[in-house]
Amino acid sequence: MRQQRRSKIQAVCLLLVLLLQLWGGLFPVMASPEESRTIRVAYPIQKNITDVDENGKYFGYTYEYLEEIAQYTGWNYEFVQIPGSVDEQLSTLMKMVQGGEVDLMGAMLYSEDLGKQFDYSGYSYGTSETVLQVLNEGGHNIIVDSQKEQTLRVAVYSTSGRMVRELYEYCEMNLITPELIECGSNEEMIRALEEGRADVLLNTSMNYLENVRPVIRFAPKPFYFVTSKNSDSDLIAELNEAIVSVTEADPYFQTTLNEKYFAPASRTFVLSDKEEAYIEQAGVLRVGVMSSQPPFQYKDEKTGALKGIGVDLLRDISKTTGLQFAMVEASSWEELYTKAKNGQVDLIAGMPYDYTTARERDLAMSRPYLSSPYTLLMHEEMSEDSIQGKRLALSRTSTYDGYFVGTAVPYDSVDACIRAVNRREADYTYVDTYTAQYYLNLPSFEELKMVPQTYTSYRICFGVVKQRDHILLGLLNKSVLSMDSDDLQSVIYQNIVHKVDFSVEYFIQKNPIPVLAAAGCVFLLVVALLVVILLQRIRAGKAISLELQKHVRLYSITNDSFFEYDFKKKRLILKDANGVNGNGGEIVRYDLSRFLGKDSPEGKSQRLFLEILDSAQNHVQEIYVYCRDGKWHWIRVTVETICDSAGVPVYAIGKISVIDEEKSEKESLREQAQRDSMTHLYNSETSKRLIEEHLPKLQPGEVGALLLLDVDLFKSINDTYGHMCGDETLKAVARLLESSFRDGDVIGRPGGDEFLVYLPRIQDIPALTKKCAGLCETVHQIRLDAARVVTISVGVALSYPGMDYEELYRQADRALYSAKEGGRDRFEIAPADQMHRQSGNS
Ligand code: GH3
Ligand code: MG
Repeated sequence: MRQQRRSKIQAVCLLLVLLLQLWGGLFPVMASPEESRTIRVAYPIQKNITDVDENGKYFGYTYEYLEEIAQYTGWNYEFVQIPGSVDEQLSTLMKMVQGGEVDLMGAMLYSEDLGKQFDYSGYSYGTSETVLQVLNEGGHNIIVDSQKEQTLRVAVYSTSGRMVRELYEYCEMNLITPELIECGSNEEMIRALEEGRADVLLNTSMNYLENVRPVIRFAPKPFYFVTSKNSDSDLIAELNEAIVSVTEADPYFQTTLNEKYFAPASRTFVLSDKEEAYIEQAGVLRVGVMSSQPPFQYKDEKTGALKGIGVDLLRDISKTTGLQFAMVEASSWEELYTKAKNGQVDLIAGMPYDYTTARERDLAMSRPYLSSPYTLLMHEEMSEDSIQGKRLALSRTSTYDGYFVGTAVPYDSVDACIRAVNRREADYTYVDTYTAQYYLNLPSFEELKMVPQTYTSYRICFGVVKQRDHILLGLLNKSVLSMDSDDLQSVIYQNIVHKVDFSVEYFIQKNPIPVLAAAGCVFLLVVALLVVILLQRIRAGKAISLELQKHVRLYSITNDSFFEYDFKKKRLILKDANGVNGNGGEIVRYDLSRFLGKDSPEGKSQRLFLEILDSAQNHVQEIYVYCRDGKWHWIRVTVETICDSAGVPVYAIGKISVIDEEKSEKESLREQAQRDSMTHLYNSETSKRLIEEHLPKLQPGEVGALLLLDVDLFKSINDTYGHMCGDETLKAVARLLESSFRDGDVIGRPGGDEFLVYLPRIQDIPALTKKCAGLCETVHQIRLDAARVVTISVGVALSYPGMDYEELYRQADRALYSAKEGGRDRFEIAPADQMHRQSGNS
């Protein structure tokens, strides 16, 4: 029973636990909207506190702090802005906070009165001071000596209020009699300083004014966030928690913001009269510099000059202060400290910021100008997990006090330690990050690797020999504190990477294998490229020659030769298809200029050809030339000339066609048209034309003769022997005429059974008579049968200079008629008229 009850109780408990878990699981879901809660923040436009830039972007001390708080609370902000002057904005927004319209307002100082009106955050998020400020330029430092009475003219915005009360308190404490100069605005206060009416102006560190810097600060007061008295307590609780978290994460966060927004002018470098006097008489100060502690101080291998971060900074200090420095080299710390001890140097560059060392060596240290975290430097192949028990290389002067397990091997300098690790003589070393970076940038140390450590930083300062006036230390401190962090970073960067020599020679020397490999690759690439180009060329060459062959074939079909002519070189490239140029289809190059002087048929022909080309016209011309086959040919040249932009012919391309056949065909056609188809003697028209050509050529005293011949009773031949026989008779007469007269005589058949012969020149009438008689006689040779011969009748007319064809023909025709009349088978010479007869006789 008891057992049963117990199990029941257990079951109820389990159910309760489950319900609780369920409730717990539900809770975050319900709470989640609160996590991204929007907080309305009063945002009065106050310089560098709650400010807006020209792009509408928020910035300022409070703004940045609120953003940091949001990292922990997850809040979103709605920044509430109000128009009007700063004072109006502040009073309106404070009322809005009280009324609950705005949740939060920052930069609030505490007073009893305000404490009754608002809820304050449990922690302040910054401190405001009351400050006396002077002009950045020309404003003198105010030295407050609380033992002496002093009068100070103070420009004030208002003569009442908390700040003035604080001023009076401060002045009372320091035996100062303030003389208040009342001003209506911030600008007026600055004017009072500029015009020399006031020594200082009264302000709060939260109120940023341009061109002034604080010289005296007092009455520090924390400032807070406030909320309405009626706001829910969660808001303040969450805010308090977040402020604690922000401070825990970065204890210097407020200082950083303060530096950033309220104290930028504090970096301005101003010298006191005492300091200026010191610089005047200081002369050249000797600075001890180590020759082998890069990048802080070292000797340039090439120029032998001492350089490094310390040396560069001293150069900057020299520029701002006017102090002069001369570098004195030392090869070890021991040597350097000895030089300081013996008064051979006035200060030491790049000394570790270490109180023990300073005390031992009797040196005063400036503020550190550089802080570089320690890092572990080891060979690339080593693992950082396995350094326990390995050899740690440490410089004898090292200030490294981090934890390590294993043996420490001492070396003279940091440089010696790193080289030992690089040689793998030691396994690892601790050096500062800048030194590590410097060495890793050198090609010969690239097998080293850096493992960042969280140990203390290596800090560096200037060491000042104690015997020197403390003013030097003050000057160095001022210089160090006024250094611009960007300038410092740039000096560091230059010294860390500057050493790397980028010359090709150096690179090859340091990387022989990769360089050789790269060179080999490039060489192979070039060879491969050349092979590809060569193959492409061969392929292209093949394609071209194939193309040419095709063309040559084509030319041989067309019986044409194609050519290219270069006007400048007078060179003719001929793709000869028909072989008349003696190369049977090959491509030949002729230097035409070499034919120019030759009077051979070949030379003349080439000149003729050149004339066509040189005429630089696009045309077709037929010429009869002597060719390389040793024969004369008719060729037709078709030319296209290509000119440059100035119109000067550069190339001519064209075609040469051999047209012998075409020419002879044309000739025979022409011949055919001129001749009588049956007897092949000239037809009537041609006979007339040819005789008319001869007639004007007759010179005075010269006589020609036209013989008209007609077959006697030809009709009866036709009738008796048939037309065929008639035709044969006509042909026989034609042959007989051809054989009886000379080449130059014109022999024709005007028509029917009539023939003509023109003798351009006759010797005399008797010879002519003899010729005609002989002709009549010879015709008898043509026999038709045993009984019958062919006879002709001839009428002759003489031609004289100036005689026309019609006249001549008429006379011959008349003579023929009379020969027929006279009984046929005979000839009759027309009697010449008086004038002609006379000229004929003469
Ligand atoms: P005549 O002595 O007066 O000249 O007498 P003929 O018979 O020869 O008369 P004519 O000269 O006037 O006659 C020419 C004839 O020739 C007429 C024509 O029939 C004939 N004839 C013309 N042309 C040809 C030809 O081409 N062939 C042949 N067979 N006969 C032709
Ligand atoms: Mg007749």
